[in-house]
Amino acid sequence: MADIYVFIGPPGVGKGTLGEMFCEETKAVHVSTGDLLRQEMAAGTELGNKVKGIIAEGGLVSDDIVAEMVEGRLQKDDIVAKGCLLDGFPRTVPQAEALRDILKRTGHKMAAVVSIEADQQMLITRLTARRMCTNKECGAIFNVVAMPPKTEGICDKCGAKLYQRSDDTKEAALHRLDVYAKQTAPLIDFYKKEGKLIRSTSRDLPAEANYANLKAALKA
Ligand code: AMP
Repeated sequence: MADIYVFIGPPGVGKGTLGEMFCEETKAVHVSTGDLLRQEMAAGTELGNKVKGIIAEGGLVSDDIVAEMVEGRLQKDDIVAKGCLLDGFPRTVPQAEALRDILKRTGHKMAAVVSIEADQQMLITRLTARRMCTNKECGAIFNVVAMPPKTEGICDKCGAKLYQRSDDTKEAALHRLDVYAKQTAPLIDFYKKEGKLIRSTSRDLPAEANYANLKAALKA
């Protein structure tokens, strides 16, 4: 029986970066449903081709598809041994209900749900300025305003090219924030009622400072 943590938060809040830091420290496995779906798209699988259009527009992939993908992942040996952080799942109340059933079936335990919150304008600025490393092994994330790479378009860590996610254009980013408010924000009440919710606010500060806040909230 392993501990499962969930990070909920609007797009651009830094869930991915904070999740990396959390997993590095706790050795939990980082499971990002967005990353899993992008891997499917990059590999050109049937699933990848099915979800490509939805993701580019900033919409949500169907609950059943994502829940099945997560259940498969949670049964793997690394997670059974070390537990995991779910980043980007659940994103709707039906997904939270599905996760409750998945945990019963797999025997894992929900350790905590962290809601990471931030100012809306900061999120729009961050999303449209975000650049990702094309090297999947590296996965570094930059921000052309707040954390630009030393050479434009090139990853500082591994030298690979950077790219902008198709859903980080202003139009898609606004749509994703709207989808978050309508479909994912209700999860905050869902987990509050279950007594699992921990809240943390991210500000326009270095990731280390926001991570320290998150850790303090988890310990409180
Ligand atoms: P992310 O990397 O978490 O921002 O996810 C990128 C995109 O993948 C989202 O905008 C959705 O289209 C899709 N996605 C990721 N996780 C989920 C999920 N739990 N449910 C539905 N769609 C998802």
